[in-house]
Formats: sequence, C-alpha cells, structure tokens
Amino acid sequence: MLYYNSEIDRKYPKLIDYFKRGINDEDKNISHCLLFWGSDITSQCELALEIARILNCSKDGSMDCDCLNCRWVKEQTHPAVKIYTRLDFKEADSAEDGETAKGKKNININQAKAIINELSVTSDYHRVYIFCDRDDDGNLKPLNRLNFPEATSNALLKTFEEPPADTTFIFLTKDRTDIISTVVSRAQSFFVPSALENDYSYDLVESVVKDYWRIDRQQILEFEANFYKLALDNEPKIIFEQFQNYMLTVVKSNPDNKHLFYKLIQDISYVEDAKRQISLTPAMNLQAVVENLCFKIIL
Ligand SMILES: [Zn+2]
Repeated sequence: MLYYNSEIDRKYPKLIDYFKRGINDEDKNISHCLLFWGSDITSQCELALEIARILNCSKDGSMDCDCLNCRWVKEQTHPAVKIYTRLDFKEADSAEDGETAKGKKNININQAKAIINELSVTSDYHRVYIFCDRDDDGNLKPLNRLNFPEATSNALLKTFEEPPADTTFIFLTKDRTDIISTVVSRAQSFFVPSALENDYSYDLVESVVKDYWRIDRQQILEFEANFYKLALDNEPKIIFEQFQNYMLTVVKSNPDNKHLFYKLIQDISYVEDAKRQISLTPAMNLQAVVENLCFKIIL
C-alpha cells in the first residue's frame, strides 16, 4: 500500500507551509515528536510522509523534486522513513509468545527494543518513524491504548524525549486521549482536518462563534479579530466550514425559532461566499474576507 500523495500540498497548504518553514529554519524549528489527531488517518499519514520527504530532501524540498531521497519517500522505500504498526517488524516479534504477526494485538516491547537498538546506530538520513495501526488489508487505523499500550510507550518514553539527532517521531491518532498523557505531553499536537468528508464538527470554532448572533455590533472588532486569528492559525476553509457546521447544528436544535432560522440560513450563505472568495485565483485577502463576513452577520 502506497500512502504518499503528490497533491498533499493542496490538501493542507497551511500545515505544509508551517512545517516547511520550521524545517528550513536555521534551528530546525519543529518538534522531534509530532502528534496528529483527527478522523482521517490516511491523510495524516500522507502529511507525515511529506514531512519526512522535506526533512530528507537533498535539494530545496519542492514537491516535484526528484532527488534520490524524495524518490525513495514517494515510493515508500526510503531506508530511514518507516510506518510502524503492530503488524510490521516481524523478525523482532517472532520470539514473543509464539504470536504470529497477523494475530498480533499491539506494538510490543520487542518492537520498542528493536527501535531503541536501531537508533543507537548513526544514520546518514533524517529518520522518521510514523506510528499508527493498520488492518490486514493495509487500511491505516489510529493508534489507541490497545495497539500502542502503556508498557510500550513507557519503554520508548526516554527515546521520545531525547532522541538522537535527526530523528522525528510522528503519532497518528483519532483523539489525543487515545495516547498516554506522558507521550502527549512530549509531543507537539496538530489537528488534521478530514479530507474525506465533512464530519460536521465545529470544535475549532466553538469558543469564538458560540451564540454569535447575540454579539453587539459594538463588539464586532473583537469578534472579527478572534475569528481572523482562528482562520490564520488553521486552514481558513476548515474554519469557515466548521462555522457553517455550527450554524447548522443550531438550526437543527432550535426548530421553532423562525427568526434565528432565517438569520442562520442567510449567514450560512455569507460564509459560503467567503469560502469562494478565498479559493479564487488569486485569492482575496483573508483579513478582508473575514471583515466583510463579520459586518454581514453581526447586526
Ligand atoms: Zn528532494
């Protein structure tokens, strides 16, 4: 199964830009422990592989680079870029309780030891270990406390904390609470929005947009600043989509409030306009789009 996506930069422009800047920074300003969370594990893996590619690229890291490192990552044959699941690493497991790889329930201590051994040898490459789960058909699944148990996490904790130079660990999971907190606290977390389908969530925007129709026009600048910050810190399109999800949820839970219903339906279309404006080529200035939207919805 190949997971590299050659259009990943269009899927997550903000996240890719963030990591690119961090990697190209003189001080390699990205954490050596990254935790991705969200419902779309395959997209998380694509993103992880792209980070691995940029970290290893011997040229400028551009998407179409054809240096040996980039070619290897794209073909998933790079010797230092690995997707680790409970089903991989067969040699190391064979000793353990006669389990076959197929029935193996978790990433076990033997795997942890093998990783530690492997890291004790220096590498010419930037090692990237992507931890997740998969089923027998190769479909990627999130890590949880069953497939990545506490004993294994603990065996690797020191390694996660102080890895050898040029080593990055990436954990793929649905929810941060599925990973033991000692690992989470050592990792930099990123929400990776689902690229598969709209998941109707609005957790990223709720604190800012909750009951926004009650906001007084005098406070519009504050609302606008908060909303703009959300859009800057995340993929703007996702923020607008989550805002729409929030509005739809309110509409559904207040079926008898006609006034609110009409307002929200109107506002959903204003947000749709904003989404269109930021995807134009060239895109409209994000701040202007947000400002325009706020003046339409805050009355
Ligand atoms: Zn390259």
